[in-house]
Amino acid sequence: MICGQKNIGSLAQKIYSRAVPVQFTILGSGSGGNCAYLETAEVRLLIDAGFSGKQIRQKLASISRTPETLSGILITHEHSDHISGLVGLATKLNLPIYCNRQTREAIEAALQIKINAQLFDTGNSFEIGDVQIDTFSIPHDAIDPVGFLLRTTVGQIGFLTDLGHCTKLIIERIRTANILVLETNHDVQMLQDDPKRSWSLKQRILSRHGHLSNEAAADVVEQMVSAELRQLYLGHLSRDCNKPEIALNAVTKRLQKTGASHIAVEVTSQNVPCPTLHLQKVFDALPNPLLFKESFAKSIPVQPPTVLQQQALL
Ligand SMILES: [Zn+2]
Ligand SMILES: [Zn+2]
Repeated sequence: MICGQKNIGSLAQKIYSRAVPVQFTILGSGSGGNCAYLETAEVRLLIDAGFSGKQIRQKLASISRTPETLSGILITHEHSDHISGLVGLATKLNLPIYCNRQTREAIEAALQIKINAQLFDTGNSFEIGDVQIDTFSIPHDAIDPVGFLLRTTVGQIGFLTDLGHCTKLIIERIRTANILVLETNHDVQMLQDDPKRSWSLKQRILSRHGHLSNEAAADVVEQMVSAELRQLYLGHLSRDCNKPEIALNAVTKRLQKTGASHIAVEVTSQNVPCPTLHLQKVFDALPNPLLFKESFAKSIPVQPPTVLQQQALL
């Protein structure tokens, strides 16, 4: 049976109302390393692995998890602050690494290892257990960098870091996110005044294939504001050319301007994991849950329920 829009809405609401445990933790984010953890009923995933294997093990231990139980690692691109932990983790544990073909080649050349690559084509979607992963191209000075939208049964998490500028296409791909990890890399003035960086490096960071400044990120936030968006993480802050309070101020000022008081904002840290987010609790705290449920139902991908889902709903 082909499921009509009305039925999909009711399916989404039933899925929404089931108490499925989905939790999300940013284990660390900054110019020196990036790694996040997503756990659902069926999978345990890392998104990037930009710390040493030992550090990732310690960060996972802080939330009572171990690398041995991971289902796999999603990789956005091959820069060392996103892949350095693959040497210590992926090869020893033979974990599946989800990346595109060119990124796989770049990783294997840079780290001199063979990985258990599960390849996707940039722009396509695929599933790992009960998570659907949408991939899309982003402008950054890597071989084939991507952003992700992770669709769980409870909500959607967008990853938008390491990009020189944001296009309308990217906004479209990530518009339904309930949680967004967004790069606020640098304060433009601090970067220009930085005595340690060469002129050419500054030009690279500021270029359309470099990194998002605080103000550029605030522009993205302004375009992304919706009833669905509930939680914003400001990520990938430069150690030398940004400060958490400056990034936070730039984004919260813009949220206030748009009247979006329902969106929580948290600045990520390089060294300390963010508190774990339990997605159901985020949505339970909505000021107008009925309004949200309606808009959430619209964002569920248009596809008929599987046999298993139909059985689960009976
Ligand atoms: Zn990076
Ligand atoms: Zn990068």
